[in-house]
Amino acid sequence: MDKDRLEEYQAKRNFSATPEPRGGDTPPPARPVFSVQKHFASSLHYDLRLEVGGVLRSWAVPKGASLDPADKRLAVQVEDHPLDCATFQGTIPEGHYAAGEVLLWDTGWWEPDTQWSRTFKEQAARGKLPDVEAKLAAGELKFILHGHKLRGSFVLVQMKNRGPKNWLLLKHKDDHARRGYNVTAEEPDSVAG
Ligand code: MN
Repeated sequence: MDKDRLEEYQAKRNFSATPEPRGGDTPPPARPVFSVQKHFASSLHYDLRLEVGGVLRSWAVPKGASLDPADKRLAVQVEDHPLDCATFQGTIPEGHYAAGEVLLWDTGWWEPDTQWSRTFKEQAARGKLPDVEAKLAAGELKFILHGHKLRGSFVLVQMKNRGPKNWLLLKHKDDHARRGYNVTAEEPDSVAG
């Protein structure tokens, strides 16, 4: 893993005072992990994290993901987080960066969506692995979530006219799409045992 990727995350935190993991201790799992943490910070948001290249690429989603393909959810990219964060649940103390309760709202594994992505389909046809880093750098990633609440195909699209950090998170129309269903309201609780 490229440890330099976690410099910003680590520089912002005092690990003797916050229960968040420092990172760098968890070996990469066989299947890339994803998680969504419901974060009661100064304003409530849902942190979507996808494991890519040994770290968790992270987006703060103010309204959380939706299973309704009609919903477009703003997703603000934040610093990469260590893999250990994928299962983190706890309270970041007052006065510290990102203070507030963190609840593990969903977790599971994810994979690049080779059905919806022409690029991934072409790479697979040539016997190549989907180049997720390149798709993120280009500002669009189609992916399948295998979670407790979030399942099926989604896309993250960078809004290039709104600066590099602003993306949209959308659900594709597939068997897991649920029109008119408000998953964050209907299923508010932690998935941690
Ligand atoms: Mn957060």
